[in-house]
Amino acid sequence: MKQHNFSAGPAILPAAVLKEAAKAVVNYQGMGLSLLELSHRGPEFTAILEEANALMRELLELPEDYHVLWMSGGASSQFFLVPMNLLKEGEVAAYTDTGTWADKAIKEAKAFGKVEVIASSKPENYTYLPKLSNISKEAKYLHLTSNNTIYGTQWAKFPKSLVPLVCDMSSDFLSRPIDIHSFGLIYAGAQKNLGPAGVTAVIVREDMLGTVDRHLPSMLDYRNFIKENSMYNTPPVYPIYVSMLTLRWIKKNGGLKGMQRKNKAKAALLYQEIDRNPLFKAVVTNPADRSLMNVCFVMAEGYEGLEKEFLQVCKANGMSGLAGHRSVGGFRASIYNAMPKSSVQALVDLMADFARKKQA
Ligand SMILES: *Cc1c(COP(=O)(O)O)cnc(C)c1O
Repeated sequence: MKQHNFSAGPAILPAAVLKEAAKAVVNYQGMGLSLLELSHRGPEFTAILEEANALMRELLELPEDYHVLWMSGGASSQFFLVPMNLLKEGEVAAYTDTGTWADKAIKEAKAFGKVEVIASSKPENYTYLPKLSNISKEAKYLHLTSNNTIYGTQWAKFPKSLVPLVCDMSSDFLSRPIDIHSFGLIYAGAQKNLGPAGVTAVIVREDMLGTVDRHLPSMLDYRNFIKENSMYNTPPVYPIYVSMLTLRWIKKNGGLKGMQRKNKAKAALLYQEIDRNPLFKAVVTNPADRSLMNVCFVMAEGYEGLEKEFLQVCKANGMSGLAGHRSVGGFRASIYNAMPKSSVQALVDLMADFARKKQA
């Protein structure tokens, strides 16, 4: 049966990308060799990396002084790589505490400089985005999580800041146009909206680097990745290849504006049903804070006992990955770039049908 994959990550990839990626494993471009067994220094992978970089630059409209890096260790390694490379001992970085991932970034940064948490929504279990004030001009950067994957909040507009933004975009990277000039650094683990697990995309502006005094091991120094074009060591060849295929797919499907248009329509469809259907309610009540990527909802009062049954109904109808994060419970529908609107419609129909049966 066709599966609708609502998993938060690793997550759905475009069907056309998976098809092409599968071919490359067995026989890359008719060479009689798998892409997995080709040298990363050879002409085939060199062309893949160049195309990935060029597409990234084109889609994000990167100015000359921004670099595209492909790194390992997931977004979780960026939590320490960012302050290690950007923040001198004694310097201040401003952080926003809007979810579990933000909290982890804060913990890691404390080892490298002074961390000022300027806003937190933790007391309300991260169900809204806090107002930002007092961003010190002394801060080296302001760290944001653009989309909070677990709680389903997303900055619809990025806050105005006098200092460069550093942003964990793991779960909404390339889902909408951004004004790149506000950002000093962006990082994103690929497995939510870009490609397979195993590679992290990093976009960094030149002037953010080179100011710290501490010793940086070669593999942890962004400048080495710039200098060696992400090939200081063997890069994650296959995850970069599949990410490149996704970048091609994004370009073909209207670029970031095209992604945004579809993502808005999909999210509107689902939130509308959650708000309308008496059996369900949204976790994030302020529409302005609601994520277009991860839609979190629970059973409404009086219907809590139906949670397990609804998950079973989903499963029986070919919908997977809908259970909410263990720290939140309920349901989470992750509807990233690659999720077709027809799958969201199928979920909406199922919710409406479930309510009709239960209320009959
Ligand atoms: C998934 C996720 C992470 C963790 O990514 P890893 O690649 O597993 O380290 C960090 N931040 C956000 C916003 C995420 O969604």
